[in-house]
Amino acid sequence: MKTRRDKLDTLFSLLVRERAGWTCEVCSRYFPEDARQSLHCSHHFSRRKRSIRLSPLNASAHCFSCHQTLGENPVLFHDWIKGHLGDEKFAALKVQAERLVRLRKRDKADIYSNLKASLQDMQARRRAGETGRIEFEDPMPDEVWATTGASAA
Ligand SMILES: [Zn+2]
Repeated sequence: MKTRRDKLDTLFSLLVRERAGWTCEVCSRYFPEDARQSLHCSHHFSRRKRSIRLSPLNASAHCFSCHQTLGENPVLFHDWIKGHLGDEKFAALKVQAERLVRLRKRDKADIYSNLKASLQDMQARRRAGETGRIEFEDPMPDEVWATTGASAA
């Protein structure tokens, strides 16, 4: 099932690929500026899981070919994610994936600002010559997590 992409997804996708320095995180192929659409933002768990849709742990930059190979081999994909994140982060992501979040308009605006700030920071560091991986924070406002504990679907 396809989930529609919104402007938060677009920013997040840019961040995930910029974080990786426009390099496939599986085969290390680099994508120069004129070929960047061939590098994908690949979600580990489905984007339908709202709580982790924009989590830095839940996506990687994959070239078309690696994305396809992993997409066709769920077991391989699972092993790759686990190895990529490490056991601890993988376990944390799995817990977060099952949490329910209800985002209000204000929360979405906050998330947008957080993503935008991270991207601008990253791009400034690139312009200053920084190479390699640059991490970014989970854009989800803390209060969203604080209010989701007991809520039902
Ligand atoms: Zn690749």
